[in-house]
Amino acid sequence: MSQVFPTYNRLDIELVSGKGTEVKDQNGKTYLDFISGIAVCNLGHSPSVVKEAVEKQLDTLWHVSNLFPITKQEEAATLLTSASGLDAVFFCNSGAEANEAAIKLSKKHTGKTKILTFKQSFHGRTFATMSATGQEKIHSGFGPLLPTFEYLPYNDEHALSKVKDKDVAAIMLEVIQGEGGVNPGTPSFLQAVEAKCRELDALLIIDEVQTGAGRTGRPFAYQHYSLNPDIVTAAKGLGSGFPVGAMMGKEALIPSFSPGTHGSTFGGNPLAMAAAKATMETIFDEGFLKDVQLKSEYFMNKMTLQLQECQIVKEIKGAGFMIGISFDTEVKDIITELRHNGLLTLPAGTHVVRLLPPLTVTYDELDQALHILVSTIKHHQSVEVY
Ligand SMILES: *Cc1c(COP(=O)(O)O)cnc(C)c1O
Repeated sequence: MSQVFPTYNRLDIELVSGKGTEVKDQNGKTYLDFISGIAVCNLGHSPSVVKEAVEKQLDTLWHVSNLFPITKQEEAATLLTSASGLDAVFFCNSGAEANEAAIKLSKKHTGKTKILTFKQSFHGRTFATMSATGQEKIHSGFGPLLPTFEYLPYNDEHALSKVKDKDVAAIMLEVIQGEGGVNPGTPSFLQAVEAKCRELDALLIIDEVQTGAGRTGRPFAYQHYSLNPDIVTAAKGLGSGFPVGAMMGKEALIPSFSPGTHGSTFGGNPLAMAAAKATMETIFDEGFLKDVQLKSEYFMNKMTLQLQECQIVKEIKGAGFMIGISFDTEVKDIITELRHNGLLTLPAGTHVVRLLPPLTVTYDELDQALHILVSTIKHHQSVEVY
């Protein structure tokens, strides 16, 4: 019997090594990894730039308290502020912690009590971020939840227009809902959310935990929509597998997070910052992101064309290398078949196959993955129909 709490349904393979897009299981079978540890290994597995930076830091200094100045943390903060246009960063260890910081800061700064979030959202598993998440299955058994949050339907401008409550500290959302099904916000809905924040004198918090770190072809996904958020959170891809979370905010918010108001023992320690710096220096480069956009376009176009004949495919959606293929059936079996055929993918909700390849994926690997996708879906379809 496993001595680990069964909070995850484990798959029947163990991945024992990885380089770039390719991973190997305990039997030596290789796979193309289009999960990337759930949008974490954005530079692929064991990227040498990050390895070298972490190795160097391992020989120098692993950890000091945030009671001391940490130069690497300042340098990592500069990378984040120049990529986002925001002014200050709080470092932590996960996406949920970054969102916790955002929730606390928005309440403290505005002195207001409510935060609006959206149905099908995902913001984390801590008590506040679970309460912020607009999915009943995530809440089940843990009530009563925090009274802070109210959930609005996503992409529904009419429901948003009816909100008049001035006691709203912030509206928090993902611009592309990840766990909820790879649902992109429409430009007019996202603009309306920002306008509503201004109307209510509330802060706009964008959760970029999954979409950040170059995942969609820009440093952050809100940059596709010319939005002007007050707070942005990021985590998954920031450290290439080293746990790093960050909350970024505008200058006006700085006094509200004064000494003693918030903290973290591990957040922003030298080892984490070495990984984050090397990762961000690589990803937040115009040439690198241009290449991500070109590869994504190539893949999306080819996939759209080749999946046209598959009746069970309803829609292909997403941006950059955060892609959802929605089906008119549940996708559990398709994902298992893809894995048997050498392609690792994951579900988003029950009807969407989610593709999150490393941003460093090659054209050749994209072609191989597409071949597996098309043949697996066609085979699945023929078995289902006849
Ligand atoms: C994964 C995720 C989180 C939670 O991040 P953890 O590091 O697991 O705490 C929060 N928000 C979004 C959008 C996510 O995808």
